[in-house]
Amino acid sequence: MSIMPALFIGHGSPMNTLETNRYTNAWSEMAASLPTPRAIVAISAHWYINASAVTSMAVPRVIHDFYGFPQELFDFDYPAPGSPDLARQVAQIAQPDVVHLDDATWGIDHGTWSVLAKMYPAADVPVVQLAIDASKPLSYHMDLGARLASLMSEDVLIVGSGNVVHNLRMVAWGHDDHGYDWAQRFDDDVRQLMTTNAGALPEVSASDDYALAVPTPDHFYPLAYIAGLAASTSSHVSTFAEGCTLGSLSMTSYRVDIN
Ligand code: ZN
Repeated sequence: MSIMPALFIGHGSPMNTLETNRYTNAWSEMAASLPTPRAIVAISAHWYINASAVTSMAVPRVIHDFYGFPQELFDFDYPAPGSPDLARQVAQIAQPDVVHLDDATWGIDHGTWSVLAKMYPAADVPVVQLAIDASKPLSYHMDLGARLASLMSEDVLIVGSGNVVHNLRMVAWGHDDHGYDWAQRFDDDVRQLMTTNAGALPEVSASDDYALAVPTPDHFYPLAYIAGLAASTSSHVSTFAEGCTLGSLSMTSYRVDIN
């Protein structure tokens, strides 16, 4: 047994699955530097529903939840197994909050597989996904993240997959590998908080840039799980990829290590 870190990964465009760039290289290198986990708990921005649930099927389906991308991306398969046992364990440690076992509706969406395809291309590590309950406030997600910390000493890798800055309406395809000033500024502010006092993450909602950077919370909330986990364990937080792309997306990724 080894204590795994927990990760937040800025996933960006699903095209990252088919491309190789400095971000996808960082994801691959991170996985290669770690012991192979026995399983992964993924919190993806793309399972954002009005309920608390965890996938509990033995064979999760691969969900292609996007449009307007090449056929190759719709054909992409990531046949990782599920883990009904781990799903039950997640539901148990979430108590007193109720997390339903979902053995039929969801599976592995692109927020998860676009990243894991680079980290564990053989798709041989079992994956469960935890839904983000859209009806709950930021504090709920931080608290639930804190409870997941106990899994880190059981060879389970916790991965939040979203984007600190995610404003699709303002995506500028010409801004290849940099962000608007407000995007970069917000990303810097979040990094400052995350690496010094992750428990204070809610303070960033007072930023003048918050409305542009986080027009909806779906891509931001996965970070709340990792921040809550870091704060509850007094962990060391560092970045392993940094930067904004396409104007209004941050790809900054965090690693949390229990001291
Ligand atoms: Zn996304």
